[in-house]
Amino acid sequence: TSFSEMGFCSEALIDNIKRLKYVNPTPIQRYAIPVALAGRDLMACAQTGSGKTAAFCFPIISAILAHKQMRRFPGYGPNGVNLASPLALILAPTRELSCQIFEEAEKFSYQTGVRVVVVYGGSPISWQLRRLEKGVDILVATPGRLMDMVERSKVSLRNVKYLTLDEADRMLDMGFERDIRKIVLQMGMPPPGVRQTMLFSATFPEEIRRLGSDFLKNHVFLTV
Ligand code: AMP
Repeated sequence: TSFSEMGFCSEALIDNIKRLKYVNPTPIQRYAIPVALAGRDLMACAQTGSGKTAAFCFPIISAILAHKQMRRFPGYGPNGVNLASPLALILAPTRELSCQIFEEAEKFSYQTGVRVVVVYGGSPISWQLRRLEKGVDILVATPGRLMDMVERSKVSLRNVKYLTLDEADRMLDMGFERDIRKIVLQMGMPPPGVRQTMLFSATFPEEIRRLGSDFLKNHVFLTV
C-alpha cells in the first residue's frame, strides 16, 4: 500500500506526504496507520528511525480534519476565557525529542489549519504560554512542564481525544510515571471509544505493560 491508498481524510495531508518525498510506508507505518485510522488503541514496539513519528502523526491529523473537531471543540474555557485545550496530546521524554516531533508534525500539517505547539522544561514558560494562547490542536509536551501548566490552569486536557506516549520506556526511566498518571487523570475517564491512546516503546518491561493495561482499551499490539 502507498500513503494515498491508506484512507487519509485530507488532500492537504497527502500533498504534504508527497512533498516530503515519503513514497513507501515504513513497516511501523504500514501496520500502525490502519489500526490508528480504525480508531483502535495501540501498543507498538518501535525504535528511533523507524518512522514512528509519522505513524502516529498522520492518523491524528487525518482524524482531526475528518471530524472537523476544531470547530466543534473550539477550546474556550468557562467564562469566555480562552484556555488552551488541545484535541491531541503527544508526550515525549526530552526537549530534543519533543522538538523533533513538533518540527515533523508542523511539516505534516502544513496548510491544513491544524495548529501544533510544543512545550518542554528547562526553558522559560512565558513564551510557550504565549504560543498556547493563540490556539492549539496538537500539543507536544514533556510530562513535567505540561503538569506544571495544568496545575497553573494554563492548559485544559478535557478535550484530548488522541493521546500518544512516545518512548514510554524512557519516560519511565526518567521518573515521569507520576506526572504521566496525573496527566491522564486530568483528562478524565471518557466513555469507551471517545479517547484513542497509542503507546510507543522500544522495550516492554513490567512497568510499561502495567501502564498499557491501565491506559489502553482492547488494544492492538505491534512489533516490527
Ligand atoms: P522517526 O523514526 O519518526 O524519527 O523517523 C526517522 C526519519 O525517517 C525521519 O527523518 C523521517 O522524516 C523519515 N521518514 C519517516 N517515514 C518515512 C517514509 N515513509 N519515507 C521516507 N522517509 C521517512
